[in-house]
Amino acid sequence: MSNYKRFFCVGAPLLRGSEARLEGDECYHLKKVLRMRAGERLILCNGDGKDYVCLIEGFAEDSVLLRVVECCENQTETSIDVTLFQAVIKGKMDYVVQKATESGVRKIIPFESRFTVAKGENIVRLNKIVVESGKQCGRAFIPEVTPTQSFDNALVALSEYEAVLFCNERERNMNLLKGLAQVRGCTSLAVVVGCEGGFTEDEESKLKQISVSVSLGRRILRADTASVCALSVINAFFEADSGAL
Ligand code: SAH
Repeated sequence: MSNYKRFFCVGAPLLRGSEARLEGDECYHLKKVLRMRAGERLILCNGDGKDYVCLIEGFAEDSVLLRVVECCENQTETSIDVTLFQAVIKGKMDYVVQKATESGVRKIIPFESRFTVAKGENIVRLNKIVVESGKQCGRAFIPEVTPTQSFDNALVALSEYEAVLFCNERERNMNLLKGLAQVRGCTSLAVVVGCEGGFTEDEESKLKQISVSVSLGRRILRADTASVCALSVINAFFEADSGAL
């Protein structure tokens, strides 16, 4: 089953034996790109965290008719709901959202800070990237990429999370692993990474008031490197904690 192609139809109710229908980009990808045929099987996900094995029963003009033949737990999702708050990095957001998807995040919130150079990301393109990455790495959920937020709105959104880790290159007393130990057991975690210019002292001070400020080591990482490093360690920490690996 692991080699079945993966498709998404977020929100569609799926039950064993029920009919399902793929339309739009997913239908085009199946018919024109993969040239799949009736009788073949695939995995369909609707965002409930499960994998639904479906049989292709036939094709209509602009849709594919499927039959759900099996429902099983998805094996790739982590137990914790991680959101990446990423200050927009010029020319690197495609890479960041792709790696964040592979790292298991559920939501990506781009935001602007004082030193942000790039303005207004193409959210439609970023959301297409996360769908392709989610298919490639076997996700049951497709992370949501929200429209770019202001710094102040990002601060308000951060206050809704059980735990916030602020990746801070100026931090000298707490590394990421110690910070994770402090938030162990949380079910929703926000991770904040700055843009190529970092944060102003005022922004840093506001972030430190609502987060655990953590260092990723003594070297100054590029913003996209910091994002991947932090999410990789967080992933490994919670996978180990949940006994999954
Ligand atoms: N102010 C830095 C540039 C920012 S690095 C400079 O002096 O050049 C971009 C972002 O990556 C930072 O805002 C921070 O979120 C993260 N980052 C980079 N290196 C880090 C480190 N060693 N520890 C924690 N976060 C780091």
